[in-house]
Amino acid sequence: MSRVFNFSAGPAILPETVLQQASAEMLDWQGSGMSVMEMSHRGKEFKSIAEKAEADLRTLLAIPDNYKVLFLQGGASMQFAMAPINLLAGKKSADYLLTGQWSKKAVAEAKRYGEVNLVADTTESKFTTVPEASSLAFDPDAAYVHYTPNETIVGVEFPYIPETGDVPLVADMSSNILSRQLDVSHYGLIYMGAQKNIGPAGLTIVIVREDLIGKANPAMPAMLDYKTHADNGSMYNTPPTYSWYVAGLVFAWALDLGGLAAVEAINQRKAEKLYKAIDDSAFYTNPVALNCRSWMNIPFILADAELDATFIEQAAAAGLTSLKGHRSVGGMRASIYNAMPEAGVDKLIAFMQEFERTRA
Ligand SMILES: *Cc1c(COP(=O)(O)O)cnc(C)c1O
Repeated sequence: MSRVFNFSAGPAILPETVLQQASAEMLDWQGSGMSVMEMSHRGKEFKSIAEKAEADLRTLLAIPDNYKVLFLQGGASMQFAMAPINLLAGKKSADYLLTGQWSKKAVAEAKRYGEVNLVADTTESKFTTVPEASSLAFDPDAAYVHYTPNETIVGVEFPYIPETGDVPLVADMSSNILSRQLDVSHYGLIYMGAQKNIGPAGLTIVIVREDLIGKANPAMPAMLDYKTHADNGSMYNTPPTYSWYVAGLVFAWALDLGGLAAVEAINQRKAEKLYKAIDDSAFYTNPVALNCRSWMNIPFILADAELDATFIEQAAAAGLTSLKGHRSVGGMRASIYNAMPEAGVDKLIAFMQEFERTRA
């Protein structure tokens, strides 16, 4: 068996020890005589798996008691709709920060349910910047403020949390949740697809302050009402049980590493060394402004685009895969989520330097 260093933006790399544990428990989960995939979501075995996963996530993020954690389906893309459906609550409009492809999709979806007030729009910089904190003039009557703290495609991460006063702050943290410490109490709603930094695709996690639950537009399906899921412990219908289980293994793994303070230190080191390698080189460039470079998604452009295909081919042959950049940015993109070992980043840097020396 040989495993590669997989730099995919998502679904993405998982910790090897997690995969080994899932593999060891595949046929017989802890003496139950069955796979987690085969268990009733209402049985005591799965109940214990579900409760432990939630408890570990609460510990990792120090989630305050007045927040519910929901384990849902539909992806972050479903939350683009569920946020307005649940939080507009009779108000006319919501404020949005448009800073990349994902917030653009969130804006387009929200417009189906209410008015969207664009408080910032970085389209002109090709989404390589974030707005100055002091330039953000929020509407005090907005139902909520929505932003995307880490835009996965261009690799732009906010270096600050927008200050929205009494207006609930909503964040799509699909690609940077658990990458560093976080003060959940700043937010009304945090959501993410699991397939970047948490676990397998098919699971969407929502962290929502309790006072924001129960105000959904009644014309909408019950499945899109946070209250439906909060009242039923995320078991109104069958939840994505296997993804929930693997997510729980990942949470336990992060706690074993020392929690988010330890994870944060490793991620900072990984990102800084890759950016340094890019900046020190005359061949690779990163298009993002220095104050908002993502720790998780790091694009780099080769000076000669004609060499892109060769780079990808030789990198793959060296066990460094899924480096092709998003078509809107070009070049390469290395997604270095929590599960990417530091050795993977070191190997990528060594490969880049050797490629520059021999091909550029
Ligand atoms: C991947 C991603 C999405 C889309 O997630 P789905 O689960 O596929 O709907 C949304 N927002 C961000 C920031 C992402 O990285």
